[in-house]
Amino acid sequence: MPRFSGKTVIITGSSNGIGRSAALLFAQDGANVTITGRNAERLEETRQLILESGVSESHLNSVVADVTTSDGQDLLVKSTLDKFGKIHVLVNNAGAGIPDATGATGTDQSIDVYHKTLQLNLQAVIEMTKKVKPHLMETKGEIINISSIAGQPHGQPDFMYYALAKAALDQYTRSTAIDLIQYGIRVNSVSPGLVATGFVNAMGMPDAATQKLGDFMSSHKECIPALVAGQPEDIANIILFLADRKLSSYIIGQSIIADGGSTLVMGMQAHSFMDILKS
Ligand code: NDP
Repeated sequence: MPRFSGKTVIITGSSNGIGRSAALLFAQDGANVTITGRNAERLEETRQLILESGVSESHLNSVVADVTTSDGQDLLVKSTLDKFGKIHVLVNNAGAGIPDATGATGTDQSIDVYHKTLQLNLQAVIEMTKKVKPHLMETKGEIINISSIAGQPHGQPDFMYYALAKAALDQYTRSTAIDLIQYGIRVNSVSPGLVATGFVNAMGMPDAATQKLGDFMSSHKECIPALVAGQPEDIANIILFLADRKLSSYIIGQSIIADGGSTLVMGMQAHSFMDILKS
């Protein structure tokens, strides 16, 4: 029997990228899946991808919604319960780096960008967690938050509000994990490094710029030691691992970093110590 048979999963931000890949893997592994995003066209692409993989329509709930709105969140929860009756897994995946319209970076970025960035990458996670909690208490379910290596302890002046939202999300993951384990609910997280998704396009960059960034990072070992950008499935597989209690039951409140080694290198390591010593 497929391992998520009879389980219901809500995956925010599943109209693209990592969320889309996770939705496909969950559905192929027997789960009932609520897929969602604001963009109806891209959400339909996710739905078609899943149906084409042989999953029946009866296992899918497709909801166009803005996860930063209370109405959108309520619709996600209600439509999932109406169609499937229960909720076993919540994947808080929707997120984005929101650029300043004026092009400002660092401390010059506006407070409006700060509010929007935190609303999507942090507050919506907190609100979804509160709304889904009673249903996960019933099923002794799982929450998986999608963070970022941007939240790790190093400076991120280009995306400082995004980085601080993800750092706060990591702390939220730890605190909710301890708060909710008393009800049998497990909370964990994944922190991806660079992954080839719509993330850069969502910041208003053209495809060519996205490609350029990926090519640069994956050809510089001081950026990604593995010399390859991650694919959505690389992260989706970890999400499924954390949702599978048989495999990961003793992991509580942790974030699994999947970044091709990016966070393990320092700029200093871009140069050979031995070469400097010898010169
Ligand atoms: P994508 O841009 O490909 O996907 C982001 C998803 O979030 C889309 O489905 C988008 O849907 C959804 N989304 C964004 N804003 C909203 C909103 N207000 N309401 C509802 N849905 C929303 O990016 P990724 O797949 O890469 O991003 C997934 C997660 O991974 C994010 O949390 C991101 O921060 C994180 N991450 C990504 C990295 C990368 O290199 N790609 C690195 C580290 C972390 P729609 O546009 O239809 O609303």
